[in-house]
Amino acid sequence: MTSVATWDDLLGSVGEGEELAHLATEPAREARTAQLPSSLQPAVLEALARRGIRDLYAHQAEAYEAAGRGGNVIVTTGTASGKTLAFNLPVLDTLAADRHARALYLYPTKALAQDQARSLGELGVAGIRAAIYDGDTPTERRRQIRGWANLVLTNPDMLHIGVLPRHDLWGDFLHNLRFVVVDEAHVYRGVFGSHVANVLRRLRRLARIYGAEPQFLFASATIANAGELARALTGQEAAVVEDDAAPRAERTIALWNPPLLDAELGLRASTLGEASRLLAGLVGRGLRTICFAKSRKSAELIHSFASDRLDAATAARLAPYRAGYTPQQRREIERRLVEGDLLGVTSTDALELGIDIGDLDCAISVGFPGTVASLRQQWGRAGRRGHGLAILVASEDALDQYFMREPPALLERRVEAAILDHANPRVLDGHVAAAAFEAPVDEGDVATLGPEALERAPHVPELRHTPRGWVWAGKDAPAARVPLRSTSPDAFLVVDASTGDVLGLAERERAYTTVHEGAVYLHLGRQYLVRELDLHSRRALVEPFDGDWYTQAKKETQTSIEEPLRVERRLGLELSFGRVSVTEQVVAYQKKATADGSTLETVPLDLPPTTFDTEAVWFVPRPHQLEGLEAMPLLLSSLHAAEHSLIALLPLWAMCDRWDIGGLSTNLHLDTGAPTVFVYDGHAGGVGIAQRGFEQFEGWVGDTARLLEGCPCERGCPSCVQSPKCGNLNEFLDKAGALTLLQRMLATA
Ligand SMILES: [Zn+2]
Ligand SMILES: [Zn+2]
Repeated sequence: MTSVATWDDLLGSVGEGEELAHLATEPAREARTAQLPSSLQPAVLEALARRGIRDLYAHQAEAYEAAGRGGNVIVTTGTASGKTLAFNLPVLDTLAADRHARALYLYPTKALAQDQARSLGELGVAGIRAAIYDGDTPTERRRQIRGWANLVLTNPDMLHIGVLPRHDLWGDFLHNLRFVVVDEAHVYRGVFGSHVANVLRRLRRLARIYGAEPQFLFASATIANAGELARALTGQEAAVVEDDAAPRAERTIALWNPPLLDAELGLRASTLGEASRLLAGLVGRGLRTICFAKSRKSAELIHSFASDRLDAATAARLAPYRAGYTPQQRREIERRLVEGDLLGVTSTDALELGIDIGDLDCAISVGFPGTVASLRQQWGRAGRRGHGLAILVASEDALDQYFMREPPALLERRVEAAILDHANPRVLDGHVAAAAFEAPVDEGDVATLGPEALERAPHVPELRHTPRGWVWAGKDAPAARVPLRSTSPDAFLVVDASTGDVLGLAERERAYTTVHEGAVYLHLGRQYLVRELDLHSRRALVEPFDGDWYTQAKKETQTSIEEPLRVERRLGLELSFGRVSVTEQVVAYQKKATADGSTLETVPLDLPPTTFDTEAVWFVPRPHQLEGLEAMPLLLSSLHAAEHSLIALLPLWAMCDRWDIGGLSTNLHLDTGAPTVFVYDGHAGGVGIAQRGFEQFEGWVGDTARLLEGCPCERGCPSCVQSPKCGNLNEFLDKAGALTLLQRMLATA
């Protein structure tokens, strides 16, 4: 077994001494076990015995007992802690005891559903008839599955457009539905989560119409608000099982910061270069290592840089690992890793979702993956048996650099919360229509769909009020018009012109920023260049792109306050949360070199303005908080810098991407008549991000002030006040002024 001192030496020998920002050890933990419940069905006990399972971890037994009491349960324990068995036990036990009982398993991706189907097959409990029902299921198989299977695995999209609108075909299944399993529940947040929360409500309602009240069993990565997430997803309470009793090997955590090349500008050595140096160093010592990068291109570069650093024989034992591999290809890589034939794998973070690739010595995360939950999942691959090493190689991003200086913010706090808002009218209306299509909606549905659905019904154009309730008066099935990953039904299609494939959707309010003509568009880690944006057919034609520049849109933004919902005295000023209207006009874009971010060209654009309603948190600093900063342009620069750094740190509190958040700062706002900073939810209608900022304002501002205090640059850099999405291209930013303002706010707390 490798000792901590050895890791320290090893990292020291790979680096030059200054890169190691923090080294910590997470101690080993003994398993806490519980006896197999004596009430388990013989078929389940036999299957467990065949797999050599003689007892349970305490949290698995706790989940089984909680499910036995009849309510919903959410299990939120660490990676590889046996969450799957925790929800499988009550389900398999029920299905084994009652041949009529049915269960539905939801997975966010097809690959995960396949993995789960395979594990259920391997477990081999007599009487369990599991089948996948998704877009790939052949039509002739579907009917058979509906009649035969007692455990159906699918995804939210299929449930939404394929199952619920055709509930007449699923009558028997719904009547006997006892359990709904929602695995990887933390994925259901933001826009997607807000939609899925409505899909689950529609499912509950139809089950009730067919006479069933299914229990929901959730499994989630570790988050701050598991009970709240389960409640937001179903509208019902859930018992929280969070006391992780699985054994854990000792693990060393290393925070690795690429060396500072220019302190004044805040310029650091390449993240990919550092990652490849670490990968080569670890693999060269015979350690099995997985390296997670954010894009396919980065993963490929790390793979090739690391190969260049090694002799040919060792380099041959490195492999890239891509999303889109078949289960056979994945198992082949897994097998080669387990046998030690492969030593190093580079991957995009597609792998982060639960798929098992065996027990490795080291895991390297290249750049913070966006959420602590994802990072923990990546790190969870390292050292499941022996002492493992988990590394985060920081990018220049503000949040990454903040973690390098404030390790407890990453390693010890649990503040990151999954948030969603099912009642956002932009999300809800489509589901009210879909529900009315499925069965007339009346007062009795408040218990499942929620009171908001009835409030919205009169506003949904194609609904008609009849004595039976609200009914669908349109022709087609409305669910098909409601994409689960967007808040606007009139989203733009992004089409690969070289193949005709639809890559995805760009929400209308963001299309002009992300898929304007000439934009470099990222999809699943691949780069595309936008050839044409057709405003009439709402279609962006893109083609694969291999260039070494990216683009940044320049835009003009205005906000107007529609309705303050909450106003409180916080940090010595008036803090507001409410509804705002945001108008944006993209006026130009810049091409920037990937290597150093330098501007290559500015290209004007002629695009119409877009307006959308959303939620925002905003504040007006008091005069004494701005003392000495009142002169222009210092005032604007200070507010602008504060806005950027606040946006950079909000994802630490609310699970989201900084691209989900917008901001505006002005020395004089028409509605407040004063200098004002707005941070708004980038999705029409809002999904709860700004609200979380309002609720956690003190902690959020505190983190932001520490970010600015600690950044070694002189006048602001990409790691503190500059933003990769600034509509003003990072003009007018004053780091010192922003820090002064935030410190004065905190001093009045
Ligand atoms: Zn800086
Ligand atoms: Zn800006």
